[in-house]
Amino acid sequence: MRPLLGLWLLALTLLADAHIFVYHRFGDTRYPSTDTSIEVLRKQFDYFRKNGYEVIPLSRLVEALQKGKNIPDSWVVLTIDDSYKSFYDNALALFKEYRYPFTLFVYTGATEAGYRDYMSWKQIEEAMKHGEIGFHSHTHPHMVSKSGDYLREDFRKGLELMKRRLGIEPRYFAYPYGEYDERVKSIAKSFGFDAVCNQNVGAVSKESDPMDLDRIALTGDPNLKSKLKIKYLPAQWLEPKGWPEDGVVRRVHVKTSDPNAARGRLYLTGYGWRRVALKKGELDTTLNLPLKNRRSRLILKLEKDRISTKIVVKP
Ligand SMILES: [Zn+2]
Repeated sequence: MRPLLGLWLLALTLLADAHIFVYHRFGDTRYPSTDTSIEVLRKQFDYFRKNGYEVIPLSRLVEALQKGKNIPDSWVVLTIDDSYKSFYDNALALFKEYRYPFTLFVYTGATEAGYRDYMSWKQIEEAMKHGEIGFHSHTHPHMVSKSGDYLREDFRKGLELMKRRLGIEPRYFAYPYGEYDERVKSIAKSFGFDAVCNQNVGAVSKESDPMDLDRIALTGDPNLKSKLKIKYLPAQWLEPKGWPEDGVVRRVHVKTSDPNAARGRLYLTGYGWRRVALKKGELDTTLNLPLKNRRSRLILKLEKDRISTKIVVKP
């Protein structure tokens, strides 16, 4: 039994990198597209526990990245966006039961205004005893379409409120709707966070950029096992860099870190997957496809579930 277990753990080690997951609502059937039922959450927690995964706080992962340490494949980070009341009412007890840490990304404007569906400052303070608190913007805007002045003011207001109401200076930020581009990224960066989370499919390895951490959504009842197999693919997206001016993706040019990669698959929102050929680990292909969705993602997948994602958002 023991040697087998050892082999199996080794196999697990070879399979994947660390993973950050993102949840939104819990046990709230009014919004199926952003909801995770408590039954499914328990099933996922049991899966982590039975299969040797270690649920760690985001701070531990970020610290390892900053120090250039290897990232254990068994690490899982759980994050929750929007600070909905359903987290406090329905899910916090389960996180406590399993002693699983979490990072709650707070939408400060909703809490300050007392919106019904969102946690109060008092509830967030209570949750803080069991997890970490991050910032998720003050007005939850589509950031790519907002001016620099608007965005800086949004950060200032929200961060000032968190200081005033909770006495903390959040070290982590998550983009509303997972939407960003280079300009938004550099503004977020200027506020000095230790890490910034997106909502692109991917994993985290020692080569990941702490200012651009991929997170996998776990709403509904997804195939957790397949999500845990995803590995981080270091890649440089040379084209497209952002939303094309005429909304048409003409050329896709990506340099990956694997010089032997010759075949892969490319996904574009609204068009699905297509096979692509790479030369010495470089993808250079012509698509000429008009983007169908104002938030579109291009995903390059190489064998062994190695994934790199590029999001393009209409300004
Ligand atoms: Zn959000």
